[in-house]
Amino acid sequence: MDQNQLKALAAQLRYMSDASPWYRERLAGTDIDGAQLTTESMATLPRFDKEQHRQSQEESLSRYGHPYGLHLCAPVGQVRAVHATSGTSGLPTFYTFTQADLRTNDAAVAAGLAAAGVRPGDAVLHAYALSMFVGGVPWVRGISALGAAAVPVGAEGGTARLLQFATSIRPRVLCCTPSFAEHLIERTPEVAGVEVGSLGIELLICGGEAGAGDPAVRAILEDAYGAQVRDVQGGAWGHFATSCGEGEGMHLVTADNVLLEALDPHSGRPLPMENGVVGNLALTSLRWEAGPVLRYDMADTARFFTDRCRCGRDGLRYQLLGRTDDMIIVNGINVHPSAVRDTVAGWYPRVSGAVRVVVAGSDARVSPPVDVKVERGADEDPSGDAELATQLEALLRDALRFRARVEILDPGQLGRSDHKTRLLVRSGAAR
Ligand SMILES: [Zn+2]
Repeated sequence: MDQNQLKALAAQLRYMSDASPWYRERLAGTDIDGAQLTTESMATLPRFDKEQHRQSQEESLSRYGHPYGLHLCAPVGQVRAVHATSGTSGLPTFYTFTQADLRTNDAAVAAGLAAAGVRPGDAVLHAYALSMFVGGVPWVRGISALGAAAVPVGAEGGTARLLQFATSIRPRVLCCTPSFAEHLIERTPEVAGVEVGSLGIELLICGGEAGAGDPAVRAILEDAYGAQVRDVQGGAWGHFATSCGEGEGMHLVTADNVLLEALDPHSGRPLPMENGVVGNLALTSLRWEAGPVLRYDMADTARFFTDRCRCGRDGLRYQLLGRTDDMIIVNGINVHPSAVRDTVAGWYPRVSGAVRVVVAGSDARVSPPVDVKVERGADEDPSGDAELATQLEALLRDALRFRARVEILDPGQLGRSDHKTRLLVRSGAAR
C-alpha cells in the first residue's frame, strides 16, 4: 500500500463512517483519520463478504424500503445506475453507482481497455451479458469513453446476431467470456459459413470467469482466432485489471481506485503480499460514493505476483484460479474445476477443451475418485477413448494431486454456454 492509497483509504473510511450508521458502528474504535493506518492495521478493519452483502440488503429493504444495503452511503435519490449479479436464491447482489461513480468507473474501464490494447477508433464487439451485469453497460460506457466504437450485441443477442455484426462491421476487438469465445469457434462455421479466424478479430478481451489466464486455454483461443488474448477483470468500484500478453497474471490498472488483499481462505486473515501467494481476492474501494466496500471477499481464488513483469512494469498483478464456491476438497487437497479444465485443455487438440466435474451432493468435501467428463477432440478416433481416459487420469493425479475417473464423450456433447460455463455439476444422487 503506497502513501496515495493510504490517504485515499483514510478519506474513504471517514466518508463511510460519516454517511452510514452501519459503517460507523463497524468502524468504531478504528483510527480512521489515518494517523496510524498502515498495511498491518488494515488487517484489523472489518471484512465484508457475499453473505453479509445479502444480509445488509435484506435489512435495508425492510428498514428503508430499498434493497441496496445498509452499506449504501449516498442518499438513495442520488443513485444513477444499478447493476446486479443473480444469487442462487433470494435477492440478487446489487452494485450502485452515483454520478461521480459513473465518471470514476468510465475512466477506469477506458484506462483498463486501453492497457489491454484497445485503441481509439477501434470497433469493439461487446458480447458479455448486458442485462444488469457489471461487464455489460459499464463496459459499453467505458468503450465509448476510450474513444472506440461500442457495438453492444451482448450475450443475449445470441450467436447468429453476433456473427451478423461481426461479419458486417468487422470489429478489431471482441469482448466476451472465454466460454463464449470457445463456443464461437465451433458455431461460426455452422452459422456464418466461415472459420472464426477469418472474422478479422485481432484482440480478444476475455473476462467474467477464469480461463483466459491459463496458457492452455489462451493457446486454444489464440490459435483459432489468430488474435491476441487478454485476461481481464473489472467493471465496478473503478476496478480494472488486464493481462499484458507477456508476464503471468493481470496488472491492476486502477490502484488509485481499489486496494487488493490476499486473504487466507480458512482464517480470513490477510496473507503477506509476496510473489506467488495464493488466497481469496479481497477488494477495498478507495473512492466510491454509492456502495463502497471494505475488504470485500470476491469469492475468487487468486495467485498474486509482486515481481517485475516481463513487460517491464512494476505493480501488483494477479491471476484468477477459480471461484471459491466451486472449489472441492479431495482428501484434503483443494481442487478448482477451472484448474481441471485448464489442465485437460493443455491436451488440445486430442481433447476439445470442454470439461465437467461431476460430484454428488452439496458438500465441498468429495471422496475420490472424482468423475470428470471430457470431450474427445474433433479429429480423434473413439477407439482411443480408453487410453485417453487413463492418460488424463494420470495427468490430473500428477498435476492436481487428486484421483479422477475420466469419461470421454463425443465432441459437442457437454454443451457450451453463451455466458459463464458451470464447470462443476452437482448431481442429486449419492454415489
Ligand atoms: Zn506485464
